[in-house]
Amino acid sequence: MSAQDSTEGIVIAIDGPSGSGKSSTSRGVARARELRYLDTGAMYRALTWWMLSQGVNVNDADAVTALVDTPVITMGTDPDAPSVAVDGRDVAAEIRGREVTTNVSAVSAVPAARERLVRTQREIIAAARAESAGIVVEGRDITTVVAPDAPVKLFLTASPEARAQRRSKEVRSADVAATQADLARRDALDSSRAHSPLRQTEDATELDTSGLTLDEVVALVVKLADEARDH
Ligand code: C5P
Repeated sequence: MSAQDSTEGIVIAIDGPSGSGKSSTSRGVARARELRYLDTGAMYRALTWWMLSQGVNVNDADAVTALVDTPVITMGTDPDAPSVAVDGRDVAAEIRGREVTTNVSAVSAVPAARERLVRTQREIIAAARAESAGIVVEGRDITTVVAPDAPVKLFLTASPEARAQRRSKEVRSADVAATQADLARRDALDSSRAHSPLRQTEDATELDTSGLTLDEVVALVVKLADEARDH
């Protein structure tokens, strides 16, 4: 018997560093099985964008903590058109900018910021499980903190070179070396923070996506999801 109530939708939890293929894989799997999709990184980015827009010093944990509940962050979970809004404003483009990317690890290391967003993530997951076939959730602490009981838990990895190539394409940068340095900096911060660091649990399946096409990775995860559902 699975760890989750079988009358409710499935949860597929996917963690891994940036550029490991989490987003494309998660969306592909959600499309293939008509599931919802939640990008939790976009939530940390949205909170960071709002803090910066308010002039908050994001390296001051007390200042971040004081305002953490103020912005309303709304996530759209359609894998074909995921959306993110702060106080009703669509911030999908803004949250991918350099300023947010540089500062997001500082905000995500603040315990109050994590508690607030984990609460919202669990609400979105519960609603999706009640209303649909389930949800694919991607991030850094989904398998360990947000949904440790998920019947499918994956840790995606890829070589530093493959990850930098992918991320450079996404952000349309020709400077792959700079992208690789930025990924290494964020990995170090995300893996070493005291609260919910990025780490692999023993019961998460590791999948190295370096030598695989997106279709191959999606097919592997869909197979695991089907097996978990039939279990
Ligand atoms: O996935 P993405 O690279 O957009 O995530 C941006 C940042 O958000 C990460 O570098 C990490 O600091 C933070 N994050 C997190 N926990 C999650 C998802 C993202 O701390 N579940």
